[in-house]
Amino acid sequence: MKLYNSLTHTRDEFVTHEPGKVTMYTCGPTVYHFAHIGNLRSYIMEDVLEKYLNFAGYEVKRAMNITDVGHLTSDADTGEDKMLKGARREHKTVMEIAQFYTDAFFADCEKLHIKKPEIVVPATSYIDHFIEMVSKLLEKGYAYEAGGNIYFDTAKLDEYYVFNKQNQEDLAVGVRDGVEEDGNKRNKCDFVLWFTKSKFEDQELKWDSPWGVGYPGWHIECSAISLNTLGEYLDLHCGGIDNAFPHHTNEIAQSEAYLGHKWCSSWFHVLHLNTNDGKMSKSKGEFLTVSLLEEKGYDPLVYRFFCLQSHYRKALVFSYEGLDNARVSYDKLVARLAELKPAEPTACDLEAAKPLIDRFREAMDNDLNTAMGVTALYDVVKAKISDAAKLYAIAEMDEVLSCGLIAAADKKRAEAEEAAKAAEAEKAAAAAALAADPMAAEIEAAIKERADAKKAKNYARADEIRKELLEKGIVLVDTKDGTTWQKA
Ligand code: AMP
Ligand code: ZN
Repeated sequence: MKLYNSLTHTRDEFVTHEPGKVTMYTCGPTVYHFAHIGNLRSYIMEDVLEKYLNFAGYEVKRAMNITDVGHLTSDADTGEDKMLKGARREHKTVMEIAQFYTDAFFADCEKLHIKKPEIVVPATSYIDHFIEMVSKLLEKGYAYEAGGNIYFDTAKLDEYYVFNKQNQEDLAVGVRDGVEEDGNKRNKCDFVLWFTKSKFEDQELKWDSPWGVGYPGWHIECSAISLNTLGEYLDLHCGGIDNAFPHHTNEIAQSEAYLGHKWCSSWFHVLHLNTNDGKMSKSKGEFLTVSLLEEKGYDPLVYRFFCLQSHYRKALVFSYEGLDNARVSYDKLVARLAELKPAEPTACDLEAAKPLIDRFREAMDNDLNTAMGVTALYDVVKAKISDAAKLYAIAEMDEVLSCGLIAAADKKRAEAEEAAKAAEAEKAAAAAALAADPMAAEIEAAIKERADAKKAKNYARADEIRKELLEKGIVLVDTKDGTTWQKA
């Protein structure tokens, strides 16, 4: 499989440290608020990546952190603590906020068919590991104490800006975020490993450490959680593109300084979902959440389908018009699948499905091209193969895309069958009611007499019979299969 690697800036052949096995780390949400659908775009694409690796035969071990401490409003360790801000907003404790929004995040994930990673670690449960890592970085001379905090010394590295070698000044801390610089830092891009000097007197979560009571920096959590759950050699690290700098850059700096060797080989970054007016926000404009889409009548899986129609390395603009188009395509696809007759696929069906599944594989092997993967679904629908083969191919692909296509088609088919059955039953009941009418025999005899009269070209008599019956409240209906009657 070819996968774009942000480290090399090329589409590389994906190679793992241990053949057949993938260790995969995902930066989890900061649980101070609901996730917006932009955040969830990243998690959808990472979910497809994990499922496709499984599909391709890899055994994937995946870990994710839950950021419940240390993430400040600026990724560059300045500004307000996001968790504290959330707690203040809702007049709750930080841990209450963390629990509530962690649950909300996974509820959204479930609705979007995003699988929960095998390992999920809240940062607050790993404090000892962070302290151990910071201690070793100090011991090895990669960290220093200043003004009460512990900082990583980026001057000790041969190379710090691993992802973006250009615009180093633009990326530098303080300049990028337009916030005050931290005078304790020896170098502009140094970052905090451990805060002992909280800027916030009312900082709720604090732990004892060799450097005084304090709390960890944001970046250290992902390094420590990854190293302790997935080992010293990581195959794949994921996140939204904004994570590349400074978060992932700092993760690499401290992990490799700690380990003394290269750490993660491939970096997968999802480009942002934006609105027409720019950046997606939790505080300005419409706060786009899964619940909001549901309130507006959208199935969350339609949003997933919308995301899959675009490549993860292209920025995507969200609009309701775009979502409506995705819904039309999704519904049409499901309707086509519902018309297919399910059956156990034979060896012949499997053989017929194979080239179509290979087309899907080809698309996904090409840097996870989900847009082409979705096109492969339509190729199946149009193919001249049996219904069983089509449904088999779609089910295989949807294991990865997870748009709930088979279940939606089954539901639609069952509803159509139910409606047809109800119509049939209604027709039969109406016929039975007529047959049970005490006048039925007399009317049937009149209908027969009218038919005979017509045959004998005695149309006057035929009309007379119709009139006589009408006077008794009976209407005759001539159809191509003969004459029926009903009450007027
Ligand atoms: P956070 O909860 O802020 O730590 O972000 C969770 C994930 O969402 C991270 O991987 C971010 O890089 C990613 N992310 C943030 N904003 C967007 C966006 N507009 N589109 C896609 N991913 C995003
Ligand atoms: Zn992270």
